[in-house]
Amino acid sequence: MIVLKSPAELDKMRAAGRIVAETLALLKTRIIPGVTTNELNRLAEKECQRHGAKPAFKGYGGFPFAICSSPNEQVVHGFADDNPLLEGDILSIDFGVLYKGFYGDSAITVAVGKLDDDTERLLIATRESLEQAIEKAVPNGRLSDISHAVQSWVEPKGFSVVREFVGHGIGRNLHEAPQIPNYGQAGQGPRLKSGMTLAIEPMINAGAPGVKILEDGWTAVTQDSKRSAHFEHTVAITDNGPEILTQV
Ligand code: MG
Ligand code: MG
Repeated sequence: MIVLKSPAELDKMRAAGRIVAETLALLKTRIIPGVTTNELNRLAEKECQRHGAKPAFKGYGGFPFAICSSPNEQVVHGFADDNPLLEGDILSIDFGVLYKGFYGDSAITVAVGKLDDDTERLLIATRESLEQAIEKAVPNGRLSDISHAVQSWVEPKGFSVVREFVGHGIGRNLHEAPQIPNYGQAGQGPRLKSGMTLAIEPMINAGAPGVKILEDGWTAVTQDSKRSAHFEHTVAITDNGPEILTQV
């Protein structure tokens, strides 16, 4: 069942979303050559404390960090460590909080210094695919319009859509119905309604779509070791159209 949120509940989700957005914006300013993902994780923890928010992922199914930090060929759910990021790397950070009973969830992929042109194209296409998908988050649309918007944006540019991980409803729970794949035909699935809150999150690979999980049981990497990008926003469907809750 897809839970619709009342205006008062949406206000709480705005507050949670704002903390997520501000924290990611701060982390982004720290992503330069030499920084480590452990440093970024500590900063995210500190920001949660400062806001009186709980990091959503830490302890979720046993995940040990406040942020998922996934460089280069890592797709999602990467572990923070003490390896310095290098010029030309990319880093995906996925971050969520629980605040006053509601969750916010967002992800960005950030350039470490200057990128090569192909990687730059991957980041731009992935971010744009999220924008395209969000435009479909409107009353009376269908769920798979969102999915189709992602796939039809990135595949003509030579990129591929990860199948194993999908977006999701969000609210009092981090993961609620419906699941939101980033591929599929338009015009299918549940009809979209005002009051739905969705975490839309394309994960796009430079090469083939296949992924595998490392021995830590969490870190997803591309099978072909090519790079992967991830952008996510928590979005409310309103009578006035999509409202992005995780944007500063
Ligand atoms: Mg996320
Ligand atoms: Mg998510």
